[in-house]
Amino acid sequence: MPAKIAEVQRGIYELFLPLPMRPTIVNVYLIDCGGGQWVLIDTGMNTPDSVATLEDAFAQAGTRIEDLTVLLGTHHHVDHFGASGTLKRRSRARTYLHQLEVERVNRMLTLAASAPSPDAQAFFKSHGFPIDRYPLEGMRPAWIGTEQYNPVPQPDAFLRDGDVIAVGERRFEVIWTPGHAPGHSVIYLRKEKVMIVGDHLLPRITPHVGVYPTGPANPLSDFLDSQRKVQNFEVEMVLPAHGAVYQDHRHRANQIIEHHRYREAEMLDLIKHTPRTAFEVAQEVFGEEERPIFHVMAATFETLAHLEYSRGEGRARRLEHNGRIRWQAQ
Ligand SMILES: [Zn+2]
Repeated sequence: MPAKIAEVQRGIYELFLPLPMRPTIVNVYLIDCGGGQWVLIDTGMNTPDSVATLEDAFAQAGTRIEDLTVLLGTHHHVDHFGASGTLKRRSRARTYLHQLEVERVNRMLTLAASAPSPDAQAFFKSHGFPIDRYPLEGMRPAWIGTEQYNPVPQPDAFLRDGDVIAVGERRFEVIWTPGHAPGHSVIYLRKEKVMIVGDHLLPRITPHVGVYPTGPANPLSDFLDSQRKVQNFEVEMVLPAHGAVYQDHRHRANQIIEHHRYREAEMLDLIKHTPRTAFEVAQEVFGEEERPIFHVMAATFETLAHLEYSRGEGRARRLEHNGRIRWQAQ
C-alpha cells in the first residue's frame, strides 16, 4: 500500500492512515530525533491496510517499524492506539499512555462484542433512550472484540501532565487535556513550537464529548478547561489527528468554546418551559432522521454532557421521576 506522507517541518512527518469509517483518515506523526531514534505519536487502526500503509510511510521517512524508539498515545481510541500492540511487538518501542486511558483500554478489551450490560441499559433508559427500538448488537462499534483493536494493555510508563520525555535531540512535553477522553493528552515540542493535538483541537469538526455510565460526571467542563489550558502555550504549527495542519490554536480553541456556548443556549431554550430527557433534547438539536443507532447514542450522550455542564454552572436542574431523568432550565 503506497503511503502518503508529508514532512511538515524538518524531521517531522505526517502520515495519513486509512480508516474503515468516518472520518476516513487518521493522521499520525513520526518524528526523527537524531542518532537513529524515532518517535511515533498515535498508531492508526490495526487493519492489514493501515499497518501496510504505516510500513511504507516509515520507509519513505527513512526508517522501519522495527527501529521505532518511543510510541506515545494521545488516547485509547481505536484509530489512535489500535495498532500499538502490533507495533510494540515488532519494535519493542518504549510505550506511553495516560493512566486513565490505560484503564479505558482494559475496559474496552473486556467488553464483549454483544449487548451492553444491564447497568448500561438501565442508564440508557433513564435518559429516555428507546432501547427497545434498536437491536442491542448495534450498540457497540463494529471493531470491538476484533483484531482491529490490538492495543498495548500495559504501557511501559504513563504520560503525566507536565512531564518532559527526552528522546535524542527532541523534548516531548505532555499536556493533559481531558474531555474527549479522560486521559487525553497533547504533545508539545516547545523549541519547535509544534503541538500534536490528537482529537483535542481538530480544525473542522469538534470531537465527541459524552457522559457515559463509567466515565467522568462532567466531561464537557473538563473539555472546555482543556481548551483554555492549551492556550497557555506558544504554538506555530498545530498537528491534528484528522484534517489539515494549521497555525492558530488559540483561535480554534476559542471557536470550539463558542460552539459549545451556542449549543448550550440552544438546549437551555428547549427545556425552558417543558422538562425533557437527554434523548428528547438530542432529537431536537441533532435531528430525528433515521441514523445508525451508534450516532443516535452519541448524540444523546453528547447532549447529556451539555446538560450536566449546565447543571454544574447552575443553569439547569435534573428531575428524576419513576426512573426517568428530565432536565429543566433554571
Ligand atoms: Zn478519539
